[in-house]
Amino acid sequence: MSELLSKLKTSTKTRQTRCGLSLLEDNLDAAEWDQICLIVEDMRNRRAEAKAKGYSCSWLGRILREHGFLISDNTIQRHVRKNCCCE
Ligand SMILES: [Zn+2]
Repeated sequence: MSELLSKLKTSTKTRQTRCGLSLLEDNLDAAEWDQICLIVEDMRNRRAEAKAKGYSCSWLGRILREHGFLISDNTIQRHVRKNCCCE
C-alpha cells in the first residue's frame, strides 16, 4: 500500500489529539518544551504569578513567531484554557 493510500484510509479514524501548541514539542528541544509547559502551567494555575512574570498568550505567541513557529495567540489561549483538542 502506498503511503498516500494508507493515510487516506486512516485519516478519518485518527482523531487529532494535539493542538498546534502541543505539536511544537516535536520541533523544540526538551528544555525549551519544558519551559513552555511551565509557562502554560503558570498561566493556567498561577495567574497572578504569571502576570507578575509578564507571561501572556500574546507574549508567548510573539516569541514563538519570532523564532519561526507559525502559531496564533488564539491557539495558545485555547491550549491554556484547555479548549483545544489535547487530551
Ligand atoms: Zn492543546
